Amino acid sequence: MAENNIDWANLSFGYMPTDYNVRCYYRNGAWGEMEICSEATINMHMAATCLHYGQEAFEGLKAFRCKDGKIRIFRMEANAERLQSTCRGIMMPELPTEKFCEMIKTVVKKNERFIPPYESGASLYIRPLLIGTGAQVGVRPANEYLFVVFVTPVGPYFKGGFSANPYVVIREFDRSAPLGTGVYKVGGNYAASLRANKKAHDLGYSCEFYLDAKEKKYIDEAGAANFFGIKNNTYITPESSSILPSITNRSLMQLAEDLGMKVERRQIPIEELETMEEAGACGTAAVISPIARIDDLEMNKSYVISKDGKPGPISKKLYDKLRAIQYGDEPDTHGWVTVID
Ligand SMILES: *Cc1c(COP(=O)(O)O)cnc(C)c1O
Repeated sequence: MAENNIDWANLSFGYMPTDYNVRCYYRNGAWGEMEICSEATINMHMAATCLHYGQEAFEGLKAFRCKDGKIRIFRMEANAERLQSTCRGIMMPELPTEKFCEMIKTVVKKNERFIPPYESGASLYIRPLLIGTGAQVGVRPANEYLFVVFVTPVGPYFKGGFSANPYVVIREFDRSAPLGTGVYKVGGNYAASLRANKKAHDLGYSCEFYLDAKEKKYIDEAGAANFFGIKNNTYITPESSSILPSITNRSLMQLAEDLGMKVERRQIPIEELETMEEAGACGTAAVISPIARIDDLEMNKSYVISKDGKPGPISKKLYDKLRAIQYGDEPDTHGWVTVID
């Protein structure tokens, strides 16, 4: 294994080149064999459907170097299934779970020297990508596809410790429509979020906050992360046809139940924030990013969740619990982790 001089503690959530990626092509109606590749570029036809008509899906998951020296990958099968759902959503061929998992394990193992050490709190981010590569000028699904997985080490999300951030409701732009592609992990939703995200940053907030596009009454997502609120020993998260089903959120719902809390999935009117004891954004990158305050500027409202700007006790408990499972410090009672020696 080659040596490397990476400053693990100061890694950001950025791209750092690694040794290998893995690829698999779909041609003539079938997926081919996995290929291990050391090129970072993709050579493709200029009329590829991913470039013109957004036939593009991605995933995001992490691998962790653990105290026992082993590598653990979190909920890989759930990511495979979500990618299959996205494929159905934008008419791409589904990649079988076994193939997905085999490729993830291979790319992680091949880039083992880039997995941050246990003590650093950093991890290896895994980015699977599926794109339509077949040439097409009319709007139609491609007949050829490429599935590629690369990895890159990413730093701990909270450099100064687990802390809460301010969000701002953006009413001017929608990320996704009620019957659109919000439930699928496609790049198009991200393109649609760029202006809202920029506006939130320009206003000095850490992230934008979305309401449902149709009525602008209910909470949808906290930027590119799911929302949850906590009150009366209940974990509450939105039910909506325009949000991405977060695997972190699903895991937190289970952990909340394990802690003896009630779990509710329902529409959450924005005004209900007044009664929330804690709130957070959740996703693979941060696990939980606690919400300090949500400002609804057009309505002249400011929902203060955390007066001292600190995360609440239940958010902290859920965060610690999930991280402990990911790093193998606590037993994996739900069968969420894949251990690699
Ligand atoms: C990926 C993503 C999430 C988080 O999903 P996880 O599986 O928890 O990482 C939430 N919202 C959007 C829009 C996403 O793209």
